[in-house]
Amino acid sequence: MEYVACNLCGSNRTKLVFSGTIPERSRPQDMEAYRCTSSGYGRHHAIVQCSDCGLVYSNPRWDDSELMNSYEAVQDPLYLQEREGRVLTFERHLRPLEKLAGPANGRKLLDVGCYIGVFLEIAVKHGWDAWGIEPSQWAAEQARKNGLNVIAGTLVGANLPGSSFDVVTMWDVIEHLPDPMSEIQRVYRALKSDGLIVIHTMDMDSLFAHVMGKKWPWLMEMHIYYFSQRTMAAMLRKAGFEVLWSGPHGRFQTLGYLGTRFTALFGKWGRPVEWALNATRLRQMTAPINLGDLFTVYARKK
Ligand SMILES: [Zn+2]
Repeated sequence: MEYVACNLCGSNRTKLVFSGTIPERSRPQDMEAYRCTSSGYGRHHAIVQCSDCGLVYSNPRWDDSELMNSYEAVQDPLYLQEREGRVLTFERHLRPLEKLAGPANGRKLLDVGCYIGVFLEIAVKHGWDAWGIEPSQWAAEQARKNGLNVIAGTLVGANLPGSSFDVVTMWDVIEHLPDPMSEIQRVYRALKSDGLIVIHTMDMDSLFAHVMGKKWPWLMEMHIYYFSQRTMAAMLRKAGFEVLWSGPHGRFQTLGYLGTRFTALFGKWGRPVEWALNATRLRQMTAPINLGDLFTVYARKK
């Protein structure tokens, strides 16, 4: 375990927001906790808020190498079943992106943490020269099987040429990174001037997060940064970006998947809901979900 300073302003002054719920002597969870579809609700280290800039993060936490080993080992067959919902979500994400970036016309897009490549596939269909980068060997292999361009690993090791991409996207990735500030700076270097960065993450300052308190379902071991739209914008500006737009964006999910979340959240009280959904064709239906606690920010390299 290690203590870290604030990633946004460098301060060490914090106040406790939520006490940790993981027994002190336990080890990092097996890879189950680091799957995209992990249901490790309510299990997390202490979550603190920087007294100087307001950034919320997990502290202390597993050290970087322990975290990275967990991600490299991730395998996640449940995610494959969830494709349908992700396809609709990403189709929906691409529209405002193209409004700001302009049409694809074979320009270069990089998806950081592309996982099995669902967004890449859609971007290619829309005419982008799309590339992905992904630490999980299993997920990178799934994407390559579909003929997608995927670099296994992370931006740190990839040594991408500077000023080479028109758009860089990070869908539900930034909250997992040990050093988001450095990652955003690396994205800045990889972008052409006027290039667009698009980040989607949870909003710690949303009404739903405040109402749910310590029961907010995104408080999980694998999430180490809890941004608000304000702290995200501050970090992007510090890295040299101009923030163009920021606001809540929901996602599509199958009802069957939502059923598994019910059980994870409410224990035995959720099981009848999961059972009922699985017993009918309802489980395959997708529904748009927007509780206002996920947001997307679009910013331009100045
Ligand atoms: Zn701070």
